[in-house]
Amino acid sequence: MNRAESEMTRYMRRLADRDLALDRAMIPLGSCTMKLNATAEMLPISWPEFSEIHPFAPTDQTAGYAELIGDLSQKLCDITGYDAISMQPNSGAQGEYAGLLTIRRYHLSRGEPHRTVCLIPSSAHGTNPASAQMCGMTVVVVGARPDGDIDLDDFRAKAETHSANIAACMITYPSTHGVFEGHVREICDIIHAHGGQVYLDGANLNALVGLARPGDIGADVSHLNLHKTFCIPHGGGGPGMGPIGVKSHLIPFLPGHPETGGEGAVSAAPFGSASILPISWSYCLMMGGRGLTQATRVAILNANYIAARLKRAYPILYAGRNGRVAHECIVDVRPFAKSVGVNVDDIAKRLIDCGFHPPTMSWPVAGTLMIEPTESETKAEIDRFCDAMLAIREEIREIEEGRIDKLNNPVKRAPHTVSDLIGAWERPYSREAACFPAGSLGIDKYWPPVNRVDNAYGDRNLMCSCPPSEAYASTPVAAE
Ligand SMILES: *Cc1c(COP(=O)(O)O)cnc(C)c1O
Repeated sequence: MNRAESEMTRYMRRLADRDLALDRAMIPLGSCTMKLNATAEMLPISWPEFSEIHPFAPTDQTAGYAELIGDLSQKLCDITGYDAISMQPNSGAQGEYAGLLTIRRYHLSRGEPHRTVCLIPSSAHGTNPASAQMCGMTVVVVGARPDGDIDLDDFRAKAETHSANIAACMITYPSTHGVFEGHVREICDIIHAHGGQVYLDGANLNALVGLARPGDIGADVSHLNLHKTFCIPHGGGGPGMGPIGVKSHLIPFLPGHPETGGEGAVSAAPFGSASILPISWSYCLMMGGRGLTQATRVAILNANYIAARLKRAYPILYAGRNGRVAHECIVDVRPFAKSVGVNVDDIAKRLIDCGFHPPTMSWPVAGTLMIEPTESETKAEIDRFCDAMLAIREEIREIEEGRIDKLNNPVKRAPHTVSDLIGAWERPYSREAACFPAGSLGIDKYWPPVNRVDNAYGDRNLMCSCPPSEAYASTPVAAE
């Protein structure tokens, strides 16, 4: 128990030192958009004018918030091509839930309660089918073609089969494969022809802002992850914001809130986690329209630069018709699992030795890595990452060519800790090779605090490390 501020400060510092966070290296987590959370954007949320307003404060005390929320909503409408925004949802998944409920109420208003089928491609984010199920919809999965795109024939056939009962389809654009699919307008047209609505998952908006708008493509509703594209820090389960945008015909069916005389709330507060909205608002204001568009261009450029540098070492799983990716790319490391037993975990752990947070693993394709650099990373940092990935490929080659043992090598034994170094060293590679591979930063090296843990075992076996409640009985309570 910490009873001294000095100890508490040191405890927090220790935790921070163990963390491999954005203040130390790029976090190339595909689909997560781990971009810069600029200090200038974050400062206002600590101001009492923003942080000490109660969500249910009377409106005559929240005029500033109303102005901020109104202006941000207008900007988000301009960016997405939608006609209104609901700021209730606190996450992307909650936005999906709110958006599907909105669609559900729209169908009910038209006397079509039987419309409950939701078409979802097999590559969709897991939250998509989960949200549809939570809204009482029946999920019908649409297959993918070998190139990763939605199988248009299968989509058309399933839309035909369920025509009378279609509520919606949920698509992601650019797709979760990091590709601008060519048939997105056609997909919207097919659903509309069958009387359904299009839910476009807007989590990948970082590839669209300023260049294309979901509302123009044919979608009826989307959530926007403000904690991805619009700079709210995320990870670790902190508050997020997943507002939804809708076309005008859906406005009457948006979630209401008792606080403003409505019903159908999806969130406790009328504007969700309003206290973090100043981050997204100041991001938009400081970037300006041209700046936001330039950010999108650089995000796409950075992803394509990585794909181009890595493609000779690792196949890039999917690309569009012109051979380009969108704002992220999937590198296929599955062949190594077959040939030398090096799997996606091994490469992820080795990247930690190199000083990088690993990319997204085994999603949306099992056994692969999905890399998203965002516009925030410099060429130097992106090159450091590519150098690390290329060096790991050469380490795998050593195993392939039998120059090093299949299990006792730097990739299989990653990550390496300080205690590994000071103990007896009987490995067929040097201490330097273990701890200072390409990309690692000399004296500023990140030292992993632990060796490899058995993730699957940990996930399946509950281990409680908290003291039993009896332990608290003997703790003396300080007298007031
Ligand atoms: C992140 C993400 C979501 C879910 O957003 P949360 O805020 O994590 O609930 C949904 N779809 C896609 C494609 C995503 O990347």
